[in-house]
Amino acid sequence: MSNAPVPFNESRRLALLRELCILDTPPDQAFDLITKLASKTFNVPIALVTLIDKERQWFKSRVGLELTETPRDHAFCAYAILQPEVMVVLDAQQDERFKNNPLVTGSPHIRFYAGAQLTSREGLNLGTLCLIDKVPHHDFGPREHETLLTLAAMVTLRLESLRAMDYMDQTMGLPNRARLLDDLDQHSQAGICAAGQLAAVAVDLCGAEYFNDTVKALGYRYADDYLLASRDRLISLLPPDTTLYRISATRLGFVLGGTDETLADLLGRIGKACAVPLWVGDIPHNARATMGALRLPDTFDAADVLRALISASDAARKNGNHWSFYDSRHHDSQRRAYQVLSALSTALHQEHIDELSLHYQPKVDLRTGECTGVEALLRWTSPTLGAVSPAEFIPLAEKTALIDRITGWVMDEAMRQASVWQQRGWRLPVAFNVSAVDLDRPTFTDELCTCLLRHGVDPHLIELEFTESALSHSPDRLREHLLSLQALGMTVSIDDFGTGYSNMTYLKTLAANTLKVDQSFVRDMLTNATDQAIVPALVNLAHRTRHKVVAEGIETLAAYDALAAWGCDQGQGYWIAKPMTASALEQWLGSNPIRKMAASSVSNMA
Ligand code: C2E
Ligand code: MG
Ligand code: MG
Repeated sequence: MSNAPVPFNESRRLALLRELCILDTPPDQAFDLITKLASKTFNVPIALVTLIDKERQWFKSRVGLELTETPRDHAFCAYAILQPEVMVVLDAQQDERFKNNPLVTGSPHIRFYAGAQLTSREGLNLGTLCLIDKVPHHDFGPREHETLLTLAAMVTLRLESLRAMDYMDQTMGLPNRARLLDDLDQHSQAGICAAGQLAAVAVDLCGAEYFNDTVKALGYRYADDYLLASRDRLISLLPPDTTLYRISATRLGFVLGGTDETLADLLGRIGKACAVPLWVGDIPHNARATMGALRLPDTFDAADVLRALISASDAARKNGNHWSFYDSRHHDSQRRAYQVLSALSTALHQEHIDELSLHYQPKVDLRTGECTGVEALLRWTSPTLGAVSPAEFIPLAEKTALIDRITGWVMDEAMRQASVWQQRGWRLPVAFNVSAVDLDRPTFTDELCTCLLRHGVDPHLIELEFTESALSHSPDRLREHLLSLQALGMTVSIDDFGTGYSNMTYLKTLAANTLKVDQSFVRDMLTNATDQAIVPALVNLAHRTRHKVVAEGIETLAAYDALAAWGCDQGQGYWIAKPMTASALEQWLGSNPIRKMAASSVSNMA
């Protein structure tokens, strides 16, 4: 405990200091300008903004002094905060209170001191703006008093305006994201990251999903207690006086010095310690904390740093690691995602959408070689990005409202083409792909019906393919949609079967007609013993549950023959035909004698 005198309202004073979240924060330009001005105006070598903490005085701004803090016992300012307005010590060697003070007898050899209080709007004295000289002064007159008080009032104003910016997260009792962004800006402007001395770290305490599940199961109060316990555990693992910020619901952040090795060591230790179950009440929590780290460059944009930290910590979670350094490839992929989505948005909002087209890939009956239908696959050629694969842009679009427009366009174009073929008398079923999120829209079935009517297509010629991920959304609504689609006569296929949820209950409850065995099984089927066992088993399972089976990704005759021998109904793949334009498909159908149209169509074509 400090021997320095303590004001009567000490506990309120300390509470306010904590609430302001100002201790151990980076330099602030406004304070630094004031101390510079004070040193020049009074012609003294040292000017400081000091804050009196429980056991120490900490310098928020300093001119002419290397020290960042001293024990409270040695602080002249600990006395100054108890005096009305300004405390002046003309010669410390002549002052009983200070003549034996280590700051007087040793460096920086204080002789003259004048300190003006920094008083909060509640009347709590937090510290001082003080002047120090290494030689005694003879006088500190009323004009000097007034000037020092004016400068101190400017410091107080800055403190109050920082407070008014609402920099505090009440739940966690930590400075918030806005404060972190400002502090990072201050680091950047002060150039203290120049030699890459500082690193920033984001810690995701448990992942948003875990937190939401905890809220749903046990309520907000318990979930907040859990976060507070996680916060405390983290604080106990960090170097003392590290400022922790709250970035988002489950993410905290901090900035610290040291080499990459010391940082790696610290993050490794935190990761390990956080892997030990955390007890909150009677419940142990096993959630994994993950961290992302970034060495701060010379100058930077604070928002970019934050984004980089989040993506590094998410990458660590995805890869099953405790932490990862930010990798610029994350940034490249995010930039690419942004470019793709903005170019796609432009393409989709044109009056006439001409960057998109559909290619059609035939499916054939594996016993007879007859074409049983086609799958419409979306193609996009952007004027700025060139051809972009649907495997890249569809998953991105699914995270935005653009997927509605895409599906709307694909549905319309596929049905327009189906109706052209229907008018020629061809009964060529056209399948198109639907995203899981499309099936979440209550209006989806209505949109389909309207489109069918607009093009006058026989619903029996339309097939919908959706992946198993749709099953994870809202199974009840999905089932409803599928039943109404089938009632209209459309066919429903589960695409990429075997790669997603593959919950067997779905086979029982879901009204799908066809399973499309994913191409990853088919690709290695003849060389990989497991796939060789899985594919016939899937065919068998599908048949016994009264589904048709289509194998995707047939690239060789050997695969074609094996699948035919296992009784797989239909096949699709490069060996049969690659996806092609509608007119190329018409030629293919006309010129390929083995893979001819189904009998009824052939007669219609004649
Ligand atoms: P998918 O629906 O499973 O489509 C099959 C994909 O495999 C297509 O890729 C097709 O070109 C490719 N493929 C076909 N045969 C072979 C083969 O023998 N070997 C290999 N290696 N690949 C083969 P594509 O066109 O790049 O589409 C990729 C995925 O993008 C599709 O997988 C589908 O999930 C999605 N997609 C495509 N068009 C649409 C669309 O209009 N809407 C939605 N929501 N998704 C679409
Ligand atoms: Mg498909
Ligand atoms: Mg597929």
